[in-house]
Amino acid sequence: MKLSRRCFLAFSIGGAAGTALSPLPWKLTDDLSIWSQNWPWTPVPPDGEYAYINTTCTLCPGHCGIRVRKVDERAVKIEGQESSGMNPGGICLLGLSGLQLLYGPTRIQAPLKRVGERGENRWQTISWEEAIEEVAGRLNDLRSKGQPQAVAALASEDTGTVPQLMKRLLTAVGSPNFYRMPSMEDSQAAVLALTQGEEGFVGMDVEQADFVLSFGSALLEGYGASPRMMQAVNRLRADGGKLAQIDSRLSNTAAKSDIWLAPKPGTEADVALSIAHVLITRNRYDHGFVSQWAEGFEAFSAMVAEKYAPEKIADRTGLATDQIISTAIAFADAKHPLAVYGKGKGQQPGSLKEALAVNALNALAGSINRPGGIQAMAGYDYIQWPALQPDDVAAAGLQTPRLDQKGDVVYPNPGYKVHRMIEAVGAGSADLQALLVAESNPCYSLPGADKVRTAFSKIPFVVSFSSFMDETAMQSDLILPNPIYLERYEDVPVKAGTTRRRVGLCRPVVAPLHNTQHVGDTIIQIAHAMEGSVAAAFPWTDYATCLKETLSDAWETLLEKGHWEVPETTHAAGADGFKTASGKFVLMNETIGAIYLADAPLPAGDESEYPLQLVAYDTIRLSSQYVGSSPFMLKILSDTTLKGQAGFVELNPETAAKLNLKEGASATITTPAGSADVRVHLDEGIRPGIVAMARGLGHTAYDGFLAGKGVNVNQLIAPVEDPASGLDAAWGSWAKLAKG
Ligand code: SF4
Repeated sequence: MKLSRRCFLAFSIGGAAGTALSPLPWKLTDDLSIWSQNWPWTPVPPDGEYAYINTTCTLCPGHCGIRVRKVDERAVKIEGQESSGMNPGGICLLGLSGLQLLYGPTRIQAPLKRVGERGENRWQTISWEEAIEEVAGRLNDLRSKGQPQAVAALASEDTGTVPQLMKRLLTAVGSPNFYRMPSMEDSQAAVLALTQGEEGFVGMDVEQADFVLSFGSALLEGYGASPRMMQAVNRLRADGGKLAQIDSRLSNTAAKSDIWLAPKPGTEADVALSIAHVLITRNRYDHGFVSQWAEGFEAFSAMVAEKYAPEKIADRTGLATDQIISTAIAFADAKHPLAVYGKGKGQQPGSLKEALAVNALNALAGSINRPGGIQAMAGYDYIQWPALQPDDVAAAGLQTPRLDQKGDVVYPNPGYKVHRMIEAVGAGSADLQALLVAESNPCYSLPGADKVRTAFSKIPFVVSFSSFMDETAMQSDLILPNPIYLERYEDVPVKAGTTRRRVGLCRPVVAPLHNTQHVGDTIIQIAHAMEGSVAAAFPWTDYATCLKETLSDAWETLLEKGHWEVPETTHAAGADGFKTASGKFVLMNETIGAIYLADAPLPAGDESEYPLQLVAYDTIRLSSQYVGSSPFMLKILSDTTLKGQAGFVELNPETAAKLNLKEGASATITTPAGSADVRVHLDEGIRPGIVAMARGLGHTAYDGFLAGKGVNVNQLIAPVEDPASGLDAAWGSWAKLAKG
C-alpha cells in the first residue's frame, strides 16, 4: 500500500494520540522512575524537617557569617547570613561549596599513625587514647632531657581560644616557638605600632570611602571577607566613587577600576612614595591633619623630594610621570580617599616599607581613624585565663631565643618569621624535635614548598590536626583529625580589615561524621596526660567548658545571633590623639627613616639568567590557603587556567613572540627554586616581561579531584626576606620560559 503524506500525518498524529492516551507508556515511565530511584548509586533527596542554622565560615580569615539549610539531619545548602555584620547575605565560591568538604572523600576519619615512609600515605588507625599518650610521652621526654624549647607549633591564626590553647601548651611545656603562618597582618601590625602606638589590627572603611587606591589588593577576587569587599566596591562604583588598581596584571579588580597602573612588580613602595611626593609638592595634602596631628612631616617631605619625584622613579617602576601625577590628583580630589595595602587576597605577607608608604598616603589625606579611612582596631582581649605557673624546666626553655630570631628588630610586633625557622631546621642549625600543625598546610602554601618538605624530613615527630589528607598531613607521623567547621564549636575573632570588632561563633550544624575530636579537647587531654605543672595550666575538663567560661556573658549572645560585636573600649576613634610618645601620628622618625632607607625585598637570582619576572595571582575560583579547592571550584576554572591536568602561565604576546611561544604551547618554566611544565596563554593584560600563574593549583595530596592538577606556584617562588623587617615578603621570582 502506498502511504500518502496525508495518511502518514494522520497515522502519526493518531499514533501519538493513542500513545499519549494509553496508560502503558506512563506505567513504564513510572516503573522506570521507581527502579532508578532504587539504584544504590542514585542520590536520594533527603526528606524531613527543614531548619536554618546560623554559624561562621572558617575557610579563610574573612570569617563570614553563614546560614546552613538542613533537611532532617543533612546539611543541604550554605548561604551568606543576611544579619552578619561582615558579609550581608554574601558568600564566596569556597564558602558556598563547604558541603563538598564536609561530605567529600578527603576527610580523615580517625586518628592515624604513619606506618610507611613520610609521604607514602600508609597509615594505621589508632585510638584517641593511644594518640594522646604518644604526644604527651614525646613532649615529656623532651622536658626530661631539658629540651622543652625543641617543640614548636604552627597555626593559621593567633587569636581565638584554639591558637591560644596551643600557645599555652607550648608555654607550659617551656617553648617560645609558637608561630602563625605568614600574613600581611604582621606588617600592618608593625605599621600600627610605629605610626600610632597601637597594638591591634588595621580596619579599612571601604564602605564609606569614595576613592580606593589599591596596591595590588585583589578586592574583587577574594580580599579579606570577599563578599564584604565585593559589596563595598560595587557600592563605591554605584555611588560614583572611583577605584584605582596598581597591578602588573589586568586582574578582575584592575579591569573594573577607573585607573589601572601596571608597574614592575616589587616597586609598589616607590609608586606610593612618588604619589606622596605629588601630594606634597602640589599642596594637595590635608593640612589640618598634618599640622595638628602628624610628627615628622618635614623629614618625610625631604625624603620624598630627594628620591621619589615621579620622573626619578620612572625607570625603576616602568610608569610614566603623568600616570603618577594624575593618580595622585584623583586621590587628592576625593573627599574620603583610602589607600589599601596587601597583595592578592590579603593573606600573603608583604614588605614593611610598602605598608608604611601606603599608610603615609592615608595620613597625607587625613584618612586616619575617620569614616572612609583606615582605623586602628584594638586587638581582642576577651581571653583572660589564669596566669601560668611554669616549672623550672619550662622557665629555662622559655628563656631560649625563638627559632626565627624574632629579637633582631627595633619595633614592637616583630611578627612570625616562619621562613627563618624552616630554613634553620632544613640547614640543621635549629634543633626542632617536635612540631604541631593546626589549620595550616605549610608543605603546600609556604614559598619554597619543596624546601619546607625537606625541613619536615628533619623533624623527628610531626603531628597534624588536619581534617583533610593535605600535603602537610602526608608528611606527618600522627594525624589527629579535627572536625570541620560545620561540626564543631569555636570562637572566630574577625580581623581581615573589618572596622567592627566582631567574634563569630562556629557551631555544629551536623553531628561529626567521623571519629574526629576537637583540637581544643585534644590539647587539653595532652596537657592532662603530661601531668604536673603542664596539666595544672589547663583547669578545664574539656574545650566546651573552656570556651563557655572564656566567653562568659557573650556566650548567650553568640548562641542567639551567631556573632558578638565586641564593645570598642580602647579603639582610637577619630584623630583625637595617638598612643605614640608625642601623641601624634608618626610620619617619620629615626626608626621609620631606617625602614624607608632599606632596599626593596628582591627575589634571589640573576636577571641575566632569568630574564622574566614570575608573579602569582589570586582568583576567586581557587582556594590558595590551608583548605584546598572544592571539586565545584575546579569545574568552573577557565580552560586558560587549567585544562585537564595542565596548568597555564599567562604571557604578554610581545614577550611570547620573543620566546617563539604561541597560544596553548607547552613550555617549561624555571626559577632559582625549581621548574615545572606548563602551557602558555597569551594575554594583552599582562605587563611585558612578566609571567603570571594562579595560586591554588598543583596539589599533590587531597583526592582525585585536586591532586595533580596544574602547578603549585609556591614550588617556584622562594621566600624573599624583607630587609626592613626580616618578614617573608615573597611576591614572585626571576624566571625563564622555554618551549617544552
Ligand atoms: S570569604 Fe572566606 S570566610 Fe567568607 S565565605 Fe568565603 S571562604 Fe568563607
